[in-house]
Amino acid sequence: MFTSKRYDFLIVGAGLTGAVLAERLASQLGRRVLIIDRRAHIAGNAHDRLDDFGVMIHQYGPHLFHTNSSDVWAYLSAFTAWHPYEHRVLAEIDGQCVPVPFNISCLHSLFPKAQATRLESLLVRRYGMERKVPILKLRDDAREAQDLSKEDREDLRWLADFIYDKVFHGYTTKQWGLTPEELGPSITGRVPIHVSQDDRYFQDTYQALPQNGYTALVRSLLQHENIDLETSASFVDAESTVSFDHLIYTGPIDEYFDYSHGELPYRSLRFDFEHITEPFYQQATQVNFPNTHDYTRITEFKHATGQQSDGTTIAREYPQAHVRGENEPYYPIPLDTSRRLYDKYAQEVGKAGRHVTFAGRLADYKYYNMDQAVGRALAVFRKQFAA
Ligand code: FAD
Ligand code: UDP
Repeated sequence: MFTSKRYDFLIVGAGLTGAVLAERLASQLGRRVLIIDRRAHIAGNAHDRLDDFGVMIHQYGPHLFHTNSSDVWAYLSAFTAWHPYEHRVLAEIDGQCVPVPFNISCLHSLFPKAQATRLESLLVRRYGMERKVPILKLRDDAREAQDLSKEDREDLRWLADFIYDKVFHGYTTKQWGLTPEELGPSITGRVPIHVSQDDRYFQDTYQALPQNGYTALVRSLLQHENIDLETSASFVDAESTVSFDHLIYTGPIDEYFDYSHGELPYRSLRFDFEHITEPFYQQATQVNFPNTHDYTRITEFKHATGQQSDGTTIAREYPQAHVRGENEPYYPIPLDTSRRLYDKYAQEVGKAGRHVTFAGRLADYKYYNMDQAVGRALAVFRKQFAA
């Protein structure tokens, strides 16, 4: 499978992290790169493709690009045109669909006018308009708010508990098998309550999808005469047969070290795709089901991609425990115990020698969004290879 060529770099993983590093090393430094992936395709978890019905789907769940980094945006824009898209998500609460993150408009959809107006005024007075308040902070504040009147304190407590129960507790327990408190503030803090009428999921400066998809974007990154690509090729096969000077590893860090300190925990998912012979299935790209069904959300890709087609394809997401060899490790679990285990592997990295670099969601064991994965790859290139 592998040629007998000699490479400057072997890159394990053709996701965004590996592809960006391959592109930089080849185009900026003229290095010869072999990039491999054990999956049959490129783009890692951002992989998208046309399904059997000609509908563009995201194979591993909805991927919406958003960033505040003008560097990351400018870099990727050299490899793709963009389809402008601002993500909006609905959550089914008590049989009604309201925007998530929970915002001022949800108050008016869910509660009688007088109550909604009172709660709105309370949130604006306490936190200020356009402010974002993570749910765990809102709950703590509601419990401690001694400076509020008794009525306001009761209202704030009631609202915090309502949002916690209806939006966060069920969804998080389903998604992670853990409560918001057990996970700590970083996870539910990704979707803070927004004291605003703005019903977008993200407020980042740049929000769009690559016009021809993420797979085409990654293909374009890898389109260089100094880059060879092998899919369906794993590191163990390449390591023994390919000749290279430096290794960049974007796979699971515990796997690289043969699980010598034990397995890092991950959460996995099962995606059930369904094609429907109607133009549209639901009102938005994503509808969340915090308290009903075994799945967490339904994604309808056409809303995001803007594709015109007679039918539509949706995906239901069923969270699962990760079992090595049986399903994919999607989400690092941010518990103290896993952080301590990761630290043991990170110490091994120091000992692995100067010829190995670890980067990416799996190798860094971090819940990176795509722009963070790209930003990390660009920073590694700048600091480690271009300096
Ligand atoms: P990956 O995409 O995981 O790529 C690593 C690659 O390495 C994989 O293809 C794997 O097969 C390969 N590999 C691993 N080990 C080996 C080995 N031993 N040999 C060969 N190949 C190997 N981000 C956003 O910005 N917006 C979103 O809306 C968004 N939605 C998401 C939804 C889901 C369900 C998930 C799971 C993630 C989402 N993300 C989103 C995050 C996004 O997927 C990641 O930030 C990005 O894919 C990270 O790229 P990566 O290259 O570091 O890792
Ligand atoms: N979350 C929730 N209810 C929602 C949406 C999100 O409880 O309606 C919590 C849940 O714990 C989830 C986390 O917020 O895992 C982060 O949500 P995000 O949309 O960022 O998750 P991702 O798209 O990365 O799966």
